[in-house]
Amino acid sequence: MTDQDAPAALRFSGIATFMMRPFEPDPNGLDIAIAGVPYDGGVTNRPGARHGPREIRNASSMTRSIHPLTGLDPYALARVGDVGDVPFSAIHDIDAANDDITAFFHRIVSAGAIPLAAGGDHSVSFPILRAVGANRPVGLIHIDAHTDTWDAFHGSKFHHGAPFRRAVEAGVIDPKRTVQIGIRGAQNFTDGWDYSHESGMRVLFMHEVEEIGIDATIAEARRVVGEGPVYLSFDIDALDPVHAPGTGTPEIGGLTTREAQRLVRGLQGLDFVGADLVEVSPPFDHAQITALAGATLMYEILCLLAGRVAARK
Ligand code: MN
Ligand code: MN
Repeated sequence: MTDQDAPAALRFSGIATFMMRPFEPDPNGLDIAIAGVPYDGGVTNRPGARHGPREIRNASSMTRSIHPLTGLDPYALARVGDVGDVPFSAIHDIDAANDDITAFFHRIVSAGAIPLAAGGDHSVSFPILRAVGANRPVGLIHIDAHTDTWDAFHGSKFHHGAPFRRAVEAGVIDPKRTVQIGIRGAQNFTDGWDYSHESGMRVLFMHEVEEIGIDATIAEARRVVGEGPVYLSFDIDALDPVHAPGTGTPEIGGLTTREAQRLVRGLQGLDFVGADLVEVSPPFDHAQITALAGATLMYEILCLLAGRVAARK
Protein backbone atom coordinates (compact mmCIF):
# COMPACT_ATOMS: atom_id res chain seq x y z
CA MET A 1 0.00 0.00 0.00
CA THR A 2 1.19 3.48 -0.75
CA ASP A 3 0.29 6.88 0.59
CA GLN A 4 -1.82 7.27 -2.52
CA ASP A 5 -4.29 4.70 -1.16
CA ALA A 6 -4.94 6.56 2.06
CA PRO A 7 -8.41 8.09 2.22
CA ALA A 8 -6.85 11.49 2.80
CA ALA A 9 -4.63 11.28 -0.29
CA LEU A 10 -4.63 14.25 -2.64
CA ARG A 11 -6.79 12.93 -5.44
CA PHE A 12 -5.33 15.23 -8.06
CA SER A 13 -1.81 14.05 -7.28
CA GLY A 14 0.27 11.03 -8.19
CA ILE A 15 0.18 8.67 -11.17
CA ALA A 16 -3.39 7.86 -12.23
CA THR A 17 -4.47 4.28 -11.52
CA PHE A 18 -8.04 2.93 -11.43
CA MET A 19 -9.73 4.23 -8.26
CA MET A 20 -6.27 5.29 -6.99
CA ARG A 21 -5.57 1.64 -6.19
CA PRO A 22 -1.97 0.39 -6.07
CA PHE A 23 -0.45 -0.68 -9.39
CA GLU A 24 -0.11 -4.46 -8.98
CA PRO A 25 1.08 -6.07 -12.22
CA ASP A 26 0.96 -9.49 -10.53
CA PRO A 27 -2.69 -10.48 -9.86
CA ASN A 28 -1.68 -13.08 -7.27
CA GLY A 29 -2.80 -11.86 -3.89
CA LEU A 30 -5.62 -9.70 -5.30
CA ASP A 31 -9.34 -10.40 -4.87
CA ILE A 32 -10.29 -7.99 -7.65
CA ALA A 33 -7.99 -7.06 -10.53
CA ILE A 34 -8.90 -3.92 -12.46
CA ALA A 35 -7.44 -3.98 -15.97
CA GLY A 36 -7.37 -1.71 -18.99
CA VAL A 37 -7.95 -3.04 -22.51
CA PRO A 38 -6.85 -0.18 -24.79
CA TYR A 39 -8.10 -1.70 -28.03
CA ASP A 40 -10.60 -0.39 -30.59
CA GLY A 41 -9.73 -2.50 -33.61
CA GLY A 42 -13.26 -3.87 -33.53
CA VAL A 43 -15.21 -0.67 -34.18
CA THR A 44 -17.53 -0.49 -37.18
CA ASN A 45 -17.74 3.31 -37.19
CA ARG A 46 -16.34 5.97 -34.85
CA PRO A 47 -13.10 4.94 -33.07
CA GLY A 48 -11.38 6.23 -29.94
CA ALA A 49 -12.23 3.65 -27.27
CA ARG A 50 -8.55 2.64 -27.14
CA HIS A 51 -8.10 5.84 -25.13
CA GLY A 52 -10.80 4.76 -22.66
CA PRO A 53 -8.69 3.11 -19.95
CA ARG A 54 -6.32 6.05 -19.57
CA GLU A 55 -9.16 8.59 -19.34
CA ILE A 56 -11.26 6.41 -17.02
CA ARG A 57 -8.24 6.06 -14.74
CA ASN A 58 -7.99 9.84 -14.67
CA ALA A 59 -11.71 10.36 -13.98
CA SER A 60 -11.78 7.55 -11.42
CA SER A 61 -9.77 9.68 -9.01
CA MET A 62 -13.10 11.47 -8.45
CA THR A 63 -14.61 8.30 -6.94
CA ARG A 64 -14.39 7.68 -3.20
CA SER A 65 -14.72 4.62 -0.96
CA ILE A 66 -17.81 4.34 1.23
CA HIS A 67 -21.03 3.64 -0.66
CA PRO A 68 -23.81 6.17 0.07
CA LEU A 69 -26.59 3.55 0.10
CA THR A 70 -25.03 0.47 1.70
CA GLY A 71 -22.32 2.11 3.79
CA LEU A 72 -19.93 -0.57 2.57
CA ASP A 73 -16.33 0.15 1.59
CA PRO A 74 -15.29 -2.20 -1.23
CA TYR A 75 -11.62 -1.64 -0.43
CA ALA A 76 -12.18 -2.88 3.13
CA LEU A 77 -13.95 -6.00 1.82
CA ALA A 78 -11.51 -6.96 -0.92
CA ARG A 79 -7.91 -6.50 -2.00
CA VAL A 80 -8.24 -4.39 -5.13
CA GLY A 81 -5.39 -3.49 -7.47
CA ASP A 82 -4.81 -1.99 -10.90
CA VAL A 83 -3.00 -4.68 -12.90
CA GLY A 84 -2.29 -2.36 -15.79
CA ASP A 85 -3.20 -2.68 -19.46
CA VAL A 86 -3.25 -5.71 -21.72
CA PRO A 87 0.05 -5.68 -23.63
CA PHE A 88 -0.47 -6.21 -27.36
CA SER A 89 2.04 -8.14 -29.44
CA ALA A 90 0.52 -7.19 -32.83
CA ILE A 91 -2.32 -4.73 -32.37
CA HIS A 92 -3.30 -4.64 -36.07
CA ASP A 93 -3.81 -8.41 -36.13
CA ILE A 94 -7.28 -9.05 -34.73
CA ASP A 95 -6.68 -12.72 -33.89
CA ALA A 96 -3.40 -11.92 -32.14
CA ALA A 97 -5.03 -9.05 -30.21
CA ASN A 98 -7.86 -11.31 -29.08
CA ASP A 99 -5.36 -13.98 -27.98
CA ASP A 100 -3.34 -11.39 -26.03
CA ILE A 101 -6.52 -10.28 -24.22
CA THR A 102 -7.54 -13.86 -23.39
CA ALA A 103 -4.05 -14.69 -22.09
CA PHE A 104 -3.99 -11.59 -19.87
CA PHE A 105 -7.37 -12.37 -18.31
CA HIS A 106 -6.57 -16.07 -18.02
CA ARG A 107 -3.69 -15.05 -15.78
CA ILE A 108 -6.05 -13.00 -13.59
CA VAL A 109 -8.64 -15.76 -13.33
CA SER A 110 -5.94 -18.39 -12.63
CA ALA A 111 -4.65 -16.22 -9.78
CA GLY A 112 -8.10 -16.42 -8.18
CA ALA A 113 -8.90 -12.75 -8.74
CA ILE A 114 -12.15 -11.41 -10.20
CA PRO A 115 -11.40 -9.25 -13.26
CA LEU A 116 -12.98 -5.83 -13.78
CA ALA A 117 -12.04 -4.51 -17.20
CA ALA A 118 -12.22 -1.07 -18.78
CA GLY A 119 -12.42 -1.04 -22.58
CA GLY A 120 -11.75 -0.64 -25.30
CA ASP A 121 -14.55 -1.28 -27.74
CA HIS A 122 -17.06 -4.04 -27.03
CA SER A 123 -15.21 -6.63 -29.12
CA VAL A 124 -12.91 -7.11 -26.10
CA SER A 125 -15.67 -8.83 -24.10
CA PHE A 126 -15.40 -11.99 -26.20
CA PRO A 127 -11.69 -12.67 -25.55
CA ILE A 128 -12.23 -11.79 -21.87
CA LEU A 129 -15.12 -14.27 -21.68
CA ARG A 130 -12.93 -16.95 -23.26
CA ALA A 131 -10.84 -16.70 -20.07
CA VAL A 132 -13.70 -16.21 -17.57
CA GLY A 133 -15.93 -18.90 -19.13
CA ALA A 134 -13.15 -21.34 -20.00
CA ASN A 135 -14.33 -24.08 -17.63
CA ARG A 136 -18.12 -23.63 -17.99
CA PRO A 137 -20.51 -21.26 -19.71
CA VAL A 138 -21.43 -18.31 -17.49
CA GLY A 139 -24.61 -16.24 -17.29
CA LEU A 140 -24.50 -12.71 -18.68
CA ILE A 141 -26.10 -9.41 -17.75
CA HIS A 142 -25.49 -7.18 -20.75
CA ILE A 143 -26.49 -3.51 -20.52
CA ASP A 144 -26.23 -1.81 -23.93
CA ALA A 145 -28.17 0.00 -26.66
CA HIS A 146 -27.22 -2.87 -28.99
CA THR A 147 -27.46 -6.66 -28.70
CA ASP A 148 -23.94 -7.18 -30.12
CA THR A 149 -25.02 -10.53 -31.50
CA TRP A 150 -24.47 -9.73 -35.17
CA ASP A 151 -22.48 -11.92 -37.52
CA ALA A 152 -19.57 -10.95 -39.76
CA PHE A 153 -19.26 -7.29 -40.80
CA HIS A 154 -17.19 -6.52 -43.91
CA GLY A 155 -15.45 -9.85 -43.54
CA SER A 156 -14.65 -9.79 -39.82
CA LYS A 157 -16.42 -11.89 -37.19
CA PHE A 158 -14.65 -10.11 -34.31
CA HIS A 159 -16.07 -6.59 -34.38
CA HIS A 160 -17.80 -4.75 -31.53
CA GLY A 161 -21.28 -5.73 -32.73
CA ALA A 162 -20.57 -9.46 -32.41
CA PRO A 163 -18.91 -10.47 -29.10
CA PHE A 164 -21.91 -12.23 -27.56
CA ARG A 165 -22.72 -14.25 -30.67
CA ARG A 166 -19.10 -15.43 -30.71
CA ALA A 167 -19.33 -16.15 -26.96
CA VAL A 168 -22.38 -18.38 -27.46
CA GLU A 169 -20.67 -20.22 -30.34
CA ALA A 170 -17.56 -20.74 -28.19
CA GLY A 171 -19.67 -22.10 -25.33
CA VAL A 172 -18.41 -19.50 -22.83
CA ILE A 173 -21.81 -17.92 -22.09
CA ASP A 174 -25.19 -19.60 -21.65
CA PRO A 175 -27.73 -17.76 -23.84
CA LYS A 176 -30.59 -19.04 -21.66
CA ARG A 177 -28.95 -17.29 -18.69
CA THR A 178 -28.34 -14.11 -20.67
CA VAL A 179 -30.33 -10.88 -20.34
CA GLN A 180 -29.78 -7.83 -22.55
CA ILE A 181 -31.07 -4.53 -21.18
CA GLY A 182 -31.60 -1.13 -22.83
CA ILE A 183 -31.61 -2.24 -26.47
CA ARG A 184 -32.83 0.46 -28.88
CA GLY A 185 -32.21 2.27 -32.11
CA ALA A 186 -33.13 1.32 -35.66
CA GLN A 187 -31.11 -1.27 -37.56
CA ASN A 188 -30.51 -1.92 -41.25
CA PHE A 189 -30.58 -5.69 -40.65
CA THR A 190 -32.31 -7.55 -37.83
CA ASP A 191 -30.09 -10.64 -37.63
CA GLY A 192 -28.56 -9.55 -34.31
CA TRP A 193 -31.96 -9.12 -32.67
CA ASP A 194 -33.08 -12.38 -34.27
CA TYR A 195 -30.01 -14.27 -33.05
CA SER A 196 -30.55 -13.06 -29.48
CA HIS A 197 -34.16 -14.20 -29.48
CA GLU A 198 -33.54 -17.48 -31.29
CA SER A 199 -30.63 -18.46 -29.05
CA GLY A 200 -32.85 -17.98 -25.99
CA MET A 201 -31.57 -14.68 -24.61
CA ARG A 202 -34.01 -12.42 -22.77
CA VAL A 203 -33.97 -9.09 -24.59
CA LEU A 204 -35.35 -6.08 -22.72
CA PHE A 205 -35.65 -3.32 -25.29
CA MET A 206 -35.53 0.20 -23.85
CA HIS A 207 -39.26 0.68 -24.45
CA GLU A 208 -39.95 -2.37 -22.25
CA VAL A 209 -37.57 -1.10 -19.55
CA GLU A 210 -39.46 2.18 -19.59
CA GLU A 211 -42.81 0.41 -19.44
CA ILE A 212 -42.01 -1.95 -16.52
CA GLY A 213 -39.56 0.31 -14.67
CA ILE A 214 -36.11 -0.25 -13.21
CA ASP A 215 -37.18 -2.40 -10.23
CA ALA A 216 -39.03 -4.89 -12.45
CA THR A 217 -36.06 -4.85 -14.85
CA ILE A 218 -33.77 -5.80 -11.96
CA ALA A 219 -36.15 -8.60 -10.92
CA GLU A 220 -36.25 -9.93 -14.49
CA ALA A 221 -32.45 -9.84 -14.80
CA ARG A 222 -32.09 -11.74 -11.52
CA ARG A 223 -34.68 -14.29 -12.62
CA VAL A 224 -32.91 -14.94 -15.93
CA VAL A 225 -29.37 -15.39 -14.56
CA GLY A 226 -30.44 -17.26 -11.43
CA GLU A 227 -27.91 -18.57 -8.94
CA GLY A 228 -24.95 -19.57 -11.10
CA PRO A 229 -21.81 -17.66 -12.10
CA VAL A 230 -22.55 -14.45 -13.98
CA TYR A 231 -20.59 -11.83 -15.92
CA LEU A 232 -21.68 -8.19 -16.19
CA SER A 233 -20.92 -6.26 -19.36
CA PHE A 234 -21.80 -2.56 -19.40
CA ASP A 235 -21.58 -0.66 -22.69
CA ILE A 236 -21.55 3.05 -21.87
CA ASP A 237 -23.84 3.67 -24.88
CA ALA A 238 -26.64 2.13 -22.79
CA LEU A 239 -26.71 5.61 -21.27
CA ASP A 240 -28.45 8.35 -23.19
CA PRO A 241 -25.92 10.47 -25.17
CA VAL A 242 -26.89 13.36 -22.88
CA HIS A 243 -25.24 11.36 -20.10
CA ALA A 244 -22.50 9.75 -22.23
CA PRO A 245 -21.69 11.68 -25.41
CA GLY A 246 -18.20 10.21 -25.69
CA THR A 247 -18.91 6.91 -27.34
CA GLY A 248 -18.72 5.47 -30.83
CA THR A 249 -22.35 4.50 -31.43
CA PRO A 250 -24.65 6.84 -29.50
CA GLU A 251 -28.41 6.16 -29.49
CA ILE A 252 -30.87 8.65 -28.03
CA GLY A 253 -33.61 7.53 -25.65
CA GLY A 254 -31.31 5.71 -23.23
CA LEU A 255 -30.81 5.29 -19.50
CA THR A 256 -29.94 8.19 -17.26
CA THR A 257 -26.91 7.85 -15.00
CA ARG A 258 -29.33 7.73 -12.06
CA GLU A 259 -31.27 4.83 -13.59
CA ALA A 260 -28.01 3.03 -14.38
CA GLN A 261 -26.80 3.37 -10.80
CA ARG A 262 -30.12 2.02 -9.51
CA LEU A 263 -30.00 -0.87 -11.99
CA VAL A 264 -26.45 -1.88 -11.06
CA ARG A 265 -27.12 -1.55 -7.33
CA GLY A 266 -30.06 -3.92 -7.73
CA LEU A 267 -27.74 -6.72 -8.82
CA GLN A 268 -25.98 -7.03 -5.44
CA GLY A 269 -25.64 -10.62 -4.21
CA LEU A 270 -25.33 -12.38 -7.57
CA ASP A 271 -22.39 -14.73 -8.16
CA PHE A 272 -20.25 -12.37 -10.23
CA VAL A 273 -17.14 -13.86 -11.81
CA GLY A 274 -16.11 -10.81 -13.83
CA ALA A 275 -17.26 -7.55 -15.39
CA ASP A 276 -16.36 -4.94 -17.93
CA LEU A 277 -17.27 -1.38 -18.84
CA VAL A 278 -16.61 -0.57 -22.47
CA GLU A 279 -16.97 1.94 -25.31
CA VAL A 280 -15.89 5.13 -23.54
CA SER A 281 -14.33 7.11 -26.41
CA PRO A 282 -12.53 10.18 -25.01
CA PRO A 283 -12.04 11.94 -28.38
CA PHE A 284 -15.85 12.29 -28.63
CA ASP A 285 -16.26 13.24 -24.96
CA HIS A 286 -16.91 16.69 -23.50
CA ALA A 287 -15.87 17.89 -20.06
CA GLN A 288 -15.14 14.26 -19.04
CA ILE A 289 -18.89 13.56 -18.86
CA THR A 290 -18.54 10.04 -20.25
CA ALA A 291 -15.28 9.13 -18.53
CA LEU A 292 -16.75 10.19 -15.17
CA ALA A 293 -19.94 8.20 -15.80
CA GLY A 294 -17.83 5.20 -16.78
CA ALA A 295 -15.52 5.49 -13.77
CA THR A 296 -18.41 5.94 -11.35
CA LEU A 297 -20.33 2.99 -12.79
CA MET A 298 -17.13 0.95 -12.48
CA TYR A 299 -17.10 1.88 -8.79
CA GLU A 300 -20.71 0.64 -8.50
CA ILE A 301 -19.76 -2.59 -10.28
CA LEU A 302 -16.71 -2.91 -8.05
CA CYS A 303 -19.05 -2.84 -5.05
CA LEU A 304 -20.94 -5.83 -6.54
CA LEU A 305 -17.69 -7.74 -6.98
CA ALA A 306 -16.49 -6.83 -3.48
CA GLY A 307 -19.79 -8.03 -2.07
CA ARG A 308 -19.20 -11.33 -3.82
CA VAL A 309 -15.66 -11.57 -2.41
CA ALA A 310 -16.96 -10.89 1.11
CA ALA A 311 -19.66 -13.56 0.77
CA ARG A 312 -17.08 -16.17 -0.24
CA LYS A 313 -14.76 -15.49 2.69
MN1 MN B 1 -21.88 -2.93 -27.16
MN1 MN C 1 -23.68 -0.37 -27.82
